[in-house]
Amino acid sequence: MTMKPALPRRNPREERGHSGNRITRRPLAEDPSSPTSATEPTSWVLAIPDALDAALSSHDEDMLACARILADTVDAGVVVIVPPRVQGLNGRGIDRIATVPVHGNTYANDTRVAFITEVMDELRPRWSVLPDTIHGGGDLGRQLAVVRKAKIATAVKTVKGQQIIRSSANRTREQSVEDADILLVLPESAKAIPHRGPDPRAFSPVFHCPRERVRDFGFLPNDPETTPLAEADLIISAGIGVTNWEDFYALAKTLGAAIGATRPACDAGFVPRSRQVGASGTIVDPRVYLAFGISGSPQHLQGISSCPNVIAVNTDLHAAIIKRANLAIIADAQEVMPALRARAAQRT
Ligand code: FAD
Repeated sequence: MTMKPALPRRNPREERGHSGNRITRRPLAEDPSSPTSATEPTSWVLAIPDALDAALSSHDEDMLACARILADTVDAGVVVIVPPRVQGLNGRGIDRIATVPVHGNTYANDTRVAFITEVMDELRPRWSVLPDTIHGGGDLGRQLAVVRKAKIATAVKTVKGQQIIRSSANRTREQSVEDADILLVLPESAKAIPHRGPDPRAFSPVFHCPRERVRDFGFLPNDPETTPLAEADLIISAGIGVTNWEDFYALAKTLGAAIGATRPACDAGFVPRSRQVGASGTIVDPRVYLAFGISGSPQHLQGISSCPNVIAVNTDLHAAIIKRANLAIIADAQEVMPALRARAAQRT
């Protein structure tokens, strides 16, 4: 391997006649931690995962695969922009890593947007790809589109070469788009990339943070009883097989989950009527639905028909919910709830 300058040196601010000295850069090759690759990409695709809690979600991984596929069509490199200390970036087809100087879970919007804008100025990426998540990439991508006056494709379902296929008409149709700059991709837009090429190198421009206009007071614990069911990512739901309601509510709090219930559990007054899941309650589609002591009547299952991950705890192996579940635990809900809570508490 030979040492080469990592990226073409350009100063877009000078090119734009901007004499500001807010940013100074050192050549990437000076970074002693940077391994080198044999060939240098001349164009770039930017990938910006949500990376909440410093970890890639499966949606982030799909988005990275999508970025790699696009990059390969034009022989470009993939630069990923992440908060500090994100794990699991090796072996995902990434060429460079630029680290935003803010924690991933902090609402430092001005800093994040300014940093990404600077990277975009420097690299002029052919595409920028983000996960289409409500409070993460979806929001950030739309902001970038406004700031950059860029063309954006939302709800991108997949990419075929340079052809971008987006979902439209409430996901009943597809649309082909070819000239978008920013892509907000849906989960499963591409298959995760197996290990390829050398590990990514750092791309570390010196960056002076702008003053944040919004003060971030940090996260507050989720209120399990007021999180809208239709928007919840994790729902813990109870049927009449639950008898220890104190443990049920405590578990919801520890997990930061929204509460749901069957109609009989609401009828009995253990859970407010507004939390009923099912045909005559709310239709939900969380990432995970955790069902305690629920038999799985047709009316209830109708409410969770599009949940990708159902975990059921029931003493009856033959209950309908067990057939529907991706993971079944044949046990007493009263025993599983405190055990799960203790395990979850260890992680927080
Ligand atoms: P059950 O069916 O009685 O099931 C209790 C389950 O708990 C059983 O599977 C049992 O094995 C398990 N169990 C018992 N003890 C334990 C234990 N210690 N640990 C673990 N598991 C245990 N229902 C809804 O939920 N939502 C609706 O929107 C809805 N709409 C309806 C609309 C109509 C018009 C009608 C007629 C009914 C509707 N229902 C609805 C009611 C529905 O038909 C079922 O009666 C209801 O879903 C069953 O609730 P359940 O699972 O809590 O109770």
